[in-house]
Amino acid sequence: MYYSLFEIFSIGIGPSSSHTVGPMKAAKRFIDNLQNSDKLQNVAHLKTHLYGSLALTGIGHGTLNAIAYGFMGLNAEDINPQTDYIKQIKESGKLNIGGNHNIAFSFDTDIVLEKHICLTEHSNGMKFTAFDSKGNILLEETYFSVGGGTIARQDEIHARIDRKPYDVPYQFNSCHELMQICKQNKLTISELVLQNEKSIWGRRSTISKQILKLANIMQENIDIGMQKDGYLPGGLKVKRHAKEMYDRLQSRFASNSTDSLTAIDWINIWAFAVAEENACGGRMVTAPTMGSAGLIPAVMRYMERYGKFLSETEKKNASITFLATASAICSLYRTNASISGAEVGCQGEVGVACSMAAGGLTAAFGGNNAQIENAAEIAMEHNLGLTCDPINGLVQVPCIERNAMGAIKAVNAARLALQRTGTHIVSLDSIIKTMYETGLSLNSDYKETSLAGIAKNAMNC
Ligand code: SF4
Repeated sequence: MYYSLFEIFSIGIGPSSSHTVGPMKAAKRFIDNLQNSDKLQNVAHLKTHLYGSLALTGIGHGTLNAIAYGFMGLNAEDINPQTDYIKQIKESGKLNIGGNHNIAFSFDTDIVLEKHICLTEHSNGMKFTAFDSKGNILLEETYFSVGGGTIARQDEIHARIDRKPYDVPYQFNSCHELMQICKQNKLTISELVLQNEKSIWGRRSTISKQILKLANIMQENIDIGMQKDGYLPGGLKVKRHAKEMYDRLQSRFASNSTDSLTAIDWINIWAFAVAEENACGGRMVTAPTMGSAGLIPAVMRYMERYGKFLSETEKKNASITFLATASAICSLYRTNASISGAEVGCQGEVGVACSMAAGGLTAAFGGNNAQIENAAEIAMEHNLGLTCDPINGLVQVPCIERNAMGAIKAVNAARLALQRTGTHIVSLDSIIKTMYETGLSLNSDYKETSLAGIAKNAMNC
């Protein structure tokens, strides 16, 4: 099924698309439903229950704060980074729901972490209940955050799989179909995506502008992240490294270093810069998730810096080609597997981002469709089995380094594919199927619960 580029790359608040962006959207939708049924002004009390992975890692992932933002009726774009909304709520004990009705609110008692209950539909479940002043229930709804910031209410979760497809000229369910359509219509993958987007959103020039806006936010996050030092929030005392790595690299240049692997150092710095901003709850672009949000910007900066572009226009076109191609690759994972760490482990986040970036870079560097498929396949093939085990539920360790490692792997996958003809034994479809099956067979402790793996052993050994 075709997923729109703007659904795949959307603006949100870090550190996690499934644990921050999704819950924020769900809480806002719950408030909107109260408002639309004229019940908002009668609300005296809101109670939230978080289940499964949201309960186990929600504090570290910023889920509770995100729910408060959603209850306030905020969208990610509305958040003012200079305002400490959470401090205001904690100090006043009041929450302004929907932006116009104050109720008493406590993070400690009004959000319950049901760590031992996992709802059958999905491990990222949350239930919201609104009561009036007499304790009567005004509205109760259960939502699931199903990955990449996408949510589904309990009655929609199965329909999500059979959701109504976009009415686009080029619909595809597999990479094989995508390749056939491109061949029949003499299209590159990015051109196919842009034509589909035009049929959904209208003018091509507006679409290009919106794609470049997303690319700019990604690149701004690199520049912001490279200037900040100190420690990341959450109590793990993880130091921010991007700035010191950047300063060290600058002094190496000053001493005329001739290290031939400097490009790797740059990619590391760029990925760290964005992933550290994400860990601090900055404004991010899901790529395809927040946990993996540092990878694609780093590979795009590599593309800009090391590509042979002759003008700013060529660079901009390369960015559009990169993101359009990457979004088609992500559509394949969303249709046939998952991009949720809670469902398939980190394969679905850093693994998918790596695959998207490898395909996007190959396209931007002039690779043909077969080479793009090859690059995307290589990148995922060497992320198979990647578990999700963030220490203390924070999107910091191993997530930040993992973005850098994934970015380097994506560049290497693209370089391998570009040196070949595109002929390959393992298809992208078969690797996506393998990734999904591997994810389903992973023990659930390794899927965003912080109960096993590095999360367990790094703190105990
Ligand atoms: S380990 Fe991977 S999937 Fe898990 S929170 Fe970190 S980046 Fe996301």
